[in-house]
Amino acid sequence: MATRRRFLKLASAAGLAAPSIASAQSTGGGSSRVVVVGGGFGGATAARTLKMLEPKLTVTLVEPNRIFTACPFSNSVLANLREMSQQQFGYDGVVKAGVTLAQTSAEVVDGTAKTVTLSDGNKLSYDRLVMSPGIDINWRALPGYDEAAAEKMPHAWKAGAQTVLLRQQLQDMEDGGLVVISAPANPFRCPPGPYERASLIAYWLTIWKPKSKLLILDSKDAFSKQALFQNAWAQLYPGLIDWVPLSKGGKVTSVDPSTLTFVTDFGRHKAAVGNVIPPQMAGVIAREAGVADRTGWCPVEPVAFESILQPGIHVIGDAAIMGGMPKSAFAANAQAKVCAAAIVELLAGRKPVDPILINTCYSLVAADYGISIAGVYRPDKGVLADVPGAGGASPLTVVGGFRGQEALYASSWFNTITAEVFG
Ligand SMILES: Cc1cc2nc3c(=O)[nH]c(=O)nc-3n(C[C@H](O)[C@H](O)[C@H](O)COP(=O)(O)OP(=O)(O)OC[C@H]3O[C@@H](n4cnc5c(N)ncnc54)[C@H](O)[C@@H]3O)c2cc1C
Repeated sequence: MATRRRFLKLASAAGLAAPSIASAQSTGGGSSRVVVVGGGFGGATAARTLKMLEPKLTVTLVEPNRIFTACPFSNSVLANLREMSQQQFGYDGVVKAGVTLAQTSAEVVDGTAKTVTLSDGNKLSYDRLVMSPGIDINWRALPGYDEAAAEKMPHAWKAGAQTVLLRQQLQDMEDGGLVVISAPANPFRCPPGPYERASLIAYWLTIWKPKSKLLILDSKDAFSKQALFQNAWAQLYPGLIDWVPLSKGGKVTSVDPSTLTFVTDFGRHKAAVGNVIPPQMAGVIAREAGVADRTGWCPVEPVAFESILQPGIHVIGDAAIMGGMPKSAFAANAQAKVCAAAIVELLAGRKPVDPILINTCYSLVAADYGISIAGVYRPDKGVLADVPGAGGASPLTVVGGFRGQEALYASSWFNTITAEVFG
């Protein structure tokens, strides 16, 4: 009786979610416990796959948001080709798959005690921990750019309110205005993303604000699918998009949010709408858990994606350093499946097999104009390396409805992956 009273007292102090999480963890009947931190493309996939491969596992997914807002296709929201609601997904499907959902944040990871303390006060024990917390903006990397500045010059690199703000600014801009996008150095979330964004904003400007121009200030000299993007810009938006690479003074060294000004070593660019895509790093929980190195990203081995720095903790998705594999939702989903299969093997005392992973990144250049790049990766000398000769990009010259077909493949991919992860 005393125990039950104490339990109820603790549960009410911790909020309504507490009893279900606590009891789910203790009804494992001796089975192993896996905790997954982060219910995005990587984490939600890992949780579901673990449960599918080994139903006896107790799998708890820790995610504070009730609704996940997807970044892929959020550039189409900016161009009014989609509604924000089409980007949003709940966790009913994840729960139906047998995963216990802890609707709260992970606050502290203790890799020695193998526990995760949640912001509602509960503590989860694990045999294996998977972390897929995505990215944080590195607010100290670009002078002048902080959280307050992001309200004036949105990054829109975490989809949601920032995406809506940027779209509103574009809609409020007068025809003839200059839109400036600054793109960071590698590595960052979604390498083709800034150029897809420039393309779709150009698409929208051509229809609604045809006197306007778009300037991309880049901290790099080359970018993903560059020839395909630049060909398409010349064909669809002649004279509208100006791309300034690093070697021509494209690196933004500071911003002034009060005047929407981008400063480079070569000059100042005052924008009517300014989109700063700033440098990024692994989500804070990964950095505080001690799985990130000095780069701000998390080194992992290439078979089970176990941290090089903290045994028993696996890191997947954008937060991890995955060799040649880019930071994409496609990649996070693929890594999650490999990681889940490897954890099942490790918990059974077996050695996981070397994986082969695929990534494909689609980009829209206009509503009915898609391009893509694909890669194949496998462990080689301690990292995930490109398989030479595998993969490739869309051809530079095509006939007929090829680009329209690729745009359809892009939306089928989005529908498939989101149904698989959240449906
Ligand atoms: C504009 C744009 C366009 C893109 N387009 C594409 C595309 O076309 N194709 C593609 O493949 N990829 C695309 N991406 C990239 C894709 O969004 C990311 O690579 C993908 O979301 C990474 O998955 P993840 O699991 O690592 O992180 P996320 O999907 O961001 O998930 C991280 C989750 O962790 C949670 N979390 C963080 N900290 C904690 C904590 N302490 N406790 C509990 N939960 C926590 C967050 O709430 C979040 O739900 C795009 C990105 C952008 C910005």
